[in-house]
Amino acid sequence: MDYYELLGVNKNSSEEEIKKAYRKLAHQHHPDKGGGDEKKFKEINEAYQVLGNAEKRAQYDRFGKNFSGAGPGGGGQSGFSGGNPFGGFGFDAGGINFEDLGDMGDIFETFFGGGRRGSAGRQRGRDRSGSDLQINQEITLEEAYAGAAKELKFKTFNVCESCTGLGYDKQAGVKQCDVCKGAGEVRESRRTVFGTFAQSKQCTKCAGRGEIPNIICAQCKGVGRVGATRTLTIEIFPGVSDGQLIKVAGGGEAGESGAKSGDLYVQVRVLPHKVFERVESDLLVKKEIGVIDILVGKKISIPVISGGATEVEIPGGFSFNERLRVSGKGMPKFGGHGRGDLFIEFEVRAPKKVSGKLKKVLEEFGGEVS
Ligand SMILES: [Zn+2]
Ligand SMILES: [Zn+2]
Repeated sequence: MDYYELLGVNKNSSEEEIKKAYRKLAHQHHPDKGGGDEKKFKEINEAYQVLGNAEKRAQYDRFGKNFSGAGPGGGGQSGFSGGNPFGGFGFDAGGINFEDLGDMGDIFETFFGGGRRGSAGRQRGRDRSGSDLQINQEITLEEAYAGAAKELKFKTFNVCESCTGLGYDKQAGVKQCDVCKGAGEVRESRRTVFGTFAQSKQCTKCAGRGEIPNIICAQCKGVGRVGATRTLTIEIFPGVSDGQLIKVAGGGEAGESGAKSGDLYVQVRVLPHKVFERVESDLLVKKEIGVIDILVGKKISIPVISGGATEVEIPGGFSFNERLRVSGKGMPKFGGHGRGDLFIEFEVRAPKKVSGKLKKVLEEFGGEVS
């Protein structure tokens, strides 16, 4: 599409009119906005790259889109229309005068990832922080009830002790990088049909640091961390639930060259229990009970998670389709706010054999049971 059409202006529009049209459209189509359109936004920018610059605009007016072969960047047939003449949007924004754009500057910063001042000035080198780690720790339901201290053993990176993470001998110091002369970045020029654009790249020799150590640490080979097996004891609180993550800040891998350590996440797996079933902070237990025991009102012994057993009495009128609640005999509620309950699900068992004598008694007194 024609650049003038794209911006909704014409060949006679003034510089000011083009700028105004561009700003309006760029705001309208900015991809970070609701209803924004990234493709359109790029097209508008491409158009403004050219029409917003008097020299390039004159070239465009003269050659239009038949720019093919006019410059080192226009080798193909497509010339201007062949997509982005700047080779992707990672360019140094060399064609745009940000001071001109006023509040548009911030839009460019978000869209182009802060290309305005070059990447190296803001963040030196890549991220050297240590990775987060996640490990699983199985515990029993009894441990989840009472809480437990668990010793973890895992492979990770520790800070190198002999250089305290620096990666080099501190006494011997550092010298300035001879490639970037201490700047941490090198500038590269790229020629395109529109002229030459400068681009900043991180210096590969010093990895963006601008300086090179005189003596590399032999222990860690300059990385500042070493592979190790670490042991660590964590405290698991009463009432912990299955799948809960415990964060140990800084407990992950050590970073490179003394950079920040990652975090450690311990995922607690509470093993299934052979007697109790857990439903949040409540527990459920199944109990077989004989008909005669019910009739005589015998006290029933029920296991409890704290150990041992408790005696329960079946209240009169109790329906065996329901569960019997024993208050406060469940799991601790997380955060120490009381305890859940224990629920008993009865399985009523008929006697295997009823003697003639018992049968007679039951028949005789059956009418009295209500
Ligand atoms: Zn360098
Ligand atoms: Zn070291």
